[in-house]
Amino acid sequence: MGKKKKNRKETAGLPVIGMDMGGTKILAGVISAESKILGTAKRSTKPEVGSEKVVDRMIKTAREVVEEVGLELGEVAALCTGAPGPLDPDQGIVWNAPNLGWDNVPLGKLLSEGLGIPAFIANDVDLGALGEHALGAGMGTQDMVGVFVGTGIGGGLILSGALRQGWRKAAAEVGHMTILAEGPVCGCGSRGCLEALASRTAIERDIWAGVKAGRESIVPQLMESDDRERLTSGVIADAYRQGDALVIEVIGRAQFYLGVGIAAVVNLVDPEMIVVGGGVVEALGESYLAPVRTVAYQYFMNKRGAKDVKIVPARLGDNAGLLGAAVYARQKLAKQ
Ligand SMILES: [Zn+2]
Repeated sequence: MGKKKKNRKETAGLPVIGMDMGGTKILAGVISAESKILGTAKRSTKPEVGSEKVVDRMIKTAREVVEEVGLELGEVAALCTGAPGPLDPDQGIVWNAPNLGWDNVPLGKLLSEGLGIPAFIANDVDLGALGEHALGAGMGTQDMVGVFVGTGIGGGLILSGALRQGWRKAAAEVGHMTILAEGPVCGCGSRGCLEALASRTAIERDIWAGVKAGRESIVPQLMESDDRERLTSGVIADAYRQGDALVIEVIGRAQFYLGVGIAAVVNLVDPEMIVVGGGVVEALGESYLAPVRTVAYQYFMNKRGAKDVKIVPARLGDNAGLLGAAVYARQKLAKQ
């Protein structure tokens, strides 16, 4: 703190800290100017301790990863972290994050004061898409949309090679496009959002509904032998591969709606590529994506050259957010 701000030339060759913070974990990495991950550190978020202590945990994780790669904070140009939104990346404020219990937290300022380096924040899924575009499946594309299927469904929009956050910084909320107006209730309060139909949470809900209704399924048995209390992506993928009829049916429905949702995105944006990531999709890979693709192509308005629109799995896994954060930090530093 109180140090002279480094100029653009001084920071260009320095590594940055990329971070991803969600409801469960804080993941940090030191990323070199050549976009290599030099080291990573991880900590649970523990949102129940409140925003101040979570920010402390983020600061600790950042310090730890810098130390781990044998550097000092003064040798790092900046930090950027992804956070669940809605948030204001320009002011560095998280407006509200229901799964963290946050309201109006000046995250950028707190991190920058705590670490003594510039700190940026952006929507976590936007950074995931930026990472996949710069260094993963979307490399070299001009127009790309990232769709990440997890507990929820998030999206990130790249147009003319740049991340588009939207006027209110809420673009590409793919998970909350209404797909079935009278459908199941979504976490956002609406009904029939893509997230309420095709997220892992939706898949879990429908599998349990089937099990409770007396349908035969190996899921309870798999969870017991795996000693799991929650229905993880791994268990879902396992049951799918073993041909569990209930799971195949539920996943088939999720795949159908995801295909319809992706087609809606393509009909609006007409991108070269849709990159699909997240737990279940990455666990099952092509066997998950092939039916999604078939449905999506069917629902494209413009069928000409439909198959040239690539619908591909994400490549960077958990590191997409970190790498995207590093790219974002560098873009911000270059503009200062
Ligand atoms: Zn919703």
